[in-house]
Amino acid sequence: RAYLDNNATTRLDPEALAAMMPYLTNLYVNPSSAAGELFGTAQPLTEAKRCLARLLGAPELADNLVLTSGASESNSWAVHAATAGRGRGHIVATAIEHPSLMAAFESCRDAGWDVEFASPDEHGCVAPEAVTALLRPETALVSVMLANNETGVIQPVADIGHLVRDLSPSALFHVDVTQAVGRISISLNEDLIAADLVSLSGHKFHGPNGVGALFAADGVRLPPLIYGSQESGRRGGTPDAAAAAGLATAAKLALERLPEMAHVATLRDNFEHALIDCLPELRILGRMAHRLPNTSAFVIPGMNAQHAVEALAHQGVVVAAGSACTSGSPAPSHVMLAMGLSYEEAKSTLRVSLSRETTADEIALAIDCLSTLVRSAL
Ligand code: PMP
Repeated sequence: RAYLDNNATTRLDPEALAAMMPYLTNLYVNPSSAAGELFGTAQPLTEAKRCLARLLGAPELADNLVLTSGASESNSWAVHAATAGRGRGHIVATAIEHPSLMAAFESCRDAGWDVEFASPDEHGCVAPEAVTALLRPETALVSVMLANNETGVIQPVADIGHLVRDLSPSALFHVDVTQAVGRISISLNEDLIAADLVSLSGHKFHGPNGVGALFAADGVRLPPLIYGSQESGRRGGTPDAAAAAGLATAAKLALERLPEMAHVATLRDNFEHALIDCLPELRILGRMAHRLPNTSAFVIPGMNAQHAVEALAHQGVVVAAGSACTSGSPAPSHVMLAMGLSYEEAKSTLRVSLSRETTADEIALAIDCLSTLVRSAL
């Protein structure tokens, strides 16, 4: 079998699972009770923030992190932080943001906010000028993802952040780093120095599902989405110590094992070269852009990507058609359309995403099954 859908989710690392087990069994004292400190069940929460801050290249910013249920919540919360209590205003985002953010923007629009989107070029990259051209003095939020989930294309967030700070100092700058974590080196100190809000999710780097984090820079207020006393009243609910312990270990491993991404890039490049040899009509998206080492998105003209995903799954090869979050819906991906692909091309796009666990055998199986499938279908 070949699991090549790691942008959708990754396998929980056995070490992360082992770290979770005590909190799923014997260590069940409520972490936010007075006894939580004594029995050590509160400790994974601070440990997770400490490990995440190191993974984000900013160990001194651990206290600026709040654990959430994942990047969808973090994204919703970031938008809430920028818009709550204000009647209406202006938001700028890229046209290739994750559906969770797009839905939040849609709700802002319903509430009277003006939301404008900066388009990417044909390589899937959004130029800083495309964002700055939309800025206004009253812009409240600018949102740009670090790496796109469908193409893996890395966006120039450092440049954009600095420009936003200069041109629209009252705007909050939000960066969704979910797909970049554990795949490229991230430094909140250098690359993202101007980020006010940052979203991420544990299950994209071999941590448990259902836990992630939102970073808020000093001075950025986080009005609650979930009311309660925990996290200084910012996020209610009994914290999940097991999830936090798994997240901490996954973050530690992601940092230690980041060098393995060079090998992942080689496997990905080998995959693309072999596939082009078999299928010269194949078009790789974002090939000319700076991309994550693990992602390959490509158009096979004439192929129905949804059918291909199903046929490959029957052979044990797991890949995605566009983004997993939008699959099931018949609409072609908004990311592909924003890059200038036609409806037909967008519906003929497959995404293969590797992890540090991917083997050369899995890549060989995927090439074999995919080339056979395409030759028989076309
Ligand atoms: N942002 C991006 C860029 C993503 O790829 C994803 C996951 N597909 C999310 C946000 C949402 O993450 P979660 O599943 O943890 O809510």
